[in-house]
Amino acid sequence: MKGPVRRHIMFDPDQIDNKLPIADQFYFPTNASGDHKMYFCSHSLGLQVKAAVEELNQQMANWQHLAVDAHMKGDTPWLTYTDELAPSMSRLVGAEENEVVIMNSLTVNLHLLLTSFYRPRGKRTKIVIESPVFPSDIYAVRSHLQARGSNPRQDLLIWKADKNLSLDLNHLEHILKANRDHVQLLLVAGLNYLTGEYLDIPSLADIAHRYDVLVGLDLAHAVGNVPLKLHQWNVDFAAWCNYKYVGGGPGCPAAAFIHRKHHSVDVIRLEGWWGNDINNRFEMLENFTPAPGAAAWALSTPTSLSAAPLKASLQVFDTVGMISIREKSRLLTAYLEDQILKLDSPALQIITPSRAERRGAMISIRFKEKANQIFEKLAAEDVVVDFRRPDTIRISPNALYHTFDDIYRFVSLLGKALTQF
Ligand SMILES: *Cc1c(COP(=O)(O)O)cnc(C)c1O
Repeated sequence: MKGPVRRHIMFDPDQIDNKLPIADQFYFPTNASGDHKMYFCSHSLGLQVKAAVEELNQQMANWQHLAVDAHMKGDTPWLTYTDELAPSMSRLVGAEENEVVIMNSLTVNLHLLLTSFYRPRGKRTKIVIESPVFPSDIYAVRSHLQARGSNPRQDLLIWKADKNLSLDLNHLEHILKANRDHVQLLLVAGLNYLTGEYLDIPSLADIAHRYDVLVGLDLAHAVGNVPLKLHQWNVDFAAWCNYKYVGGGPGCPAAAFIHRKHHSVDVIRLEGWWGNDINNRFEMLENFTPAPGAAAWALSTPTSLSAAPLKASLQVFDTVGMISIREKSRLLTAYLEDQILKLDSPALQIITPSRAERRGAMISIRFKEKANQIFEKLAAEDVVVDFRRPDTIRISPNALYHTFDDIYRFVSLLGKALTQF
């Protein structure tokens, strides 16, 4: 169905749609009649890339035919299977190859990094975290403070969003100034899971470093969504999962970034045999020899089976490139916002920043009432979005799968759902 797309925007949507999407490379969820649903939930779980099936089957075949030898043999030995993904992953986040390690899950990695980088000493015992915050992150920080002999009540400072739900860097600076020499570390999401606000990370890092505060980022909603330059921006450490925009599959291995300046041997970390240098890892020595760079933070045998779909999805990002994805994504998101505003509905408010540089591929809408019913109505029309209690619906157009017509059709359905109340 062709909507009146051109009347409202200053570019030729067909020309952009012809370059991307590559929707035919992905599986879409289907309804009872086998038709594709409209999928706007890659902020939660990216779609399955078709090539993932083949890659996973290959690893299952390696297990069948080679068994233990698959660690060392075949085209993709398990010994280095996740290490081999580090180059692609480091391109996604703008890191040097040995600043990135693929391992564990996100919250586990936050704990490992807090162990290394939260180093309370003297009066410098405080951590700053944002609000609204993804619950796992604040649970991790609070429990860490507790485990490390700090006081979660006094040592946790909240950088609270303003009345527009925006996180203001001046406010952050004010907190750091008021607590000068007391804050040791900042742990913040680079792109907020609820509002979709994308922070100005280089400025954030500059401010924190001026107060001798380390910068840790949770990039769950940023990676695969916006281009990142973690090394250049001087971020100290970061962690992210790969099942959202990256589309690596449910519970696939997460990743961590540790800036080169922190790779020195005297850093404290929790250790396991997989972080030992690969050259003598299997000599079973009782002395730990750290692998070079971030790889020293690895603990255990990697999960090669759940890394297989991730490998396939990273190949898509390598082929298309984050710059092209972002270029189209900005336009899709702007078009979505524009169409929602044209509904001119007093029942809803967009809580995502309107400036393209301050957001990624997600628009969050807050409803005055009945958000849950609107969500149900959309679901009944085979539209997949998500509902965050009590009043927010999040919608992510994906540059890899969506056309401008998809957005047009979605907003028509949203408009229809709104008129039913
Ligand atoms: C998705 C998300 C998580 C999820 O953590 P897991 O350990 O992968 O379950 C944590 N923090 C943020 C900010 C997220 O967006």
